[in-house]
Amino acid sequence: MAGIKLYDLHETVYSFVLKSLSSGESPAGIIISLHSLTDERVAEQVPQTEKAVMKCRRGCFHCCRVNVPVLAPEADVIAEYLKTILNADELERLRAKLRYIKVNIAGYDDQERIVSNIPCGFLGEEGECIIHPVRPLVCRSVVSADDSACYNAMNMSIYEEYAYIPMNLKHKSIYDTVFLALADALKQSGGDSRSYEISEALLKRLTINI
Ligand code: SF4
Repeated sequence: MAGIKLYDLHETVYSFVLKSLSSGESPAGIIISLHSLTDERVAEQVPQTEKAVMKCRRGCFHCCRVNVPVLAPEADVIAEYLKTILNADELERLRAKLRYIKVNIAGYDDQERIVSNIPCGFLGEEGECIIHPVRPLVCRSVVSADDSACYNAMNMSIYEEYAYIPMNLKHKSIYDTVFLALADALKQSGGDSRSYEISEALLKRLTINI
């Protein structure tokens, strides 16, 4: 893609993560740094005129009923964040919700997950993402220029039809590259480079050591 050196970005992130891991940096530290680095790249590469047409906002949650893959350090950071914002009762209610989602989407592909109409476990009562400051890279990557197209795409997919969502591909390719570079660095370091469905990954982390 013209203007974006994705290979260089991959190498930058890959080297940064390997160096951070070898120096004993925590998953939280690495992920927070990656969020900053990625936000900076997006700010450099995506002109303000293109940002102005993005429709994603608090309370819009058409896309928050898809399978969301997370890497282990991302899940670790989200779990720690949840422990700071939720009390014991709220954590128990969240665990129950995640258990329900895990059981009811087990084995579902992306299409089946949308058709199930089961929202993400981290969607708040006002349609907000309760983990917004630490939301996954995959969620950060998606920015729509037409929220009605998101609504149509989700609902048409129930009938196995497709609707296209205009989205900023520069923004998306930057986040996708960072996700891949993080996975590659985890693999190179001998760590867990697999991606996990977010409900399952967080249920596990919020159930251990309670
Ligand atoms: S983590 Fe947040 S942004 Fe991502 S799908 Fe869930 S509610 Fe939506």
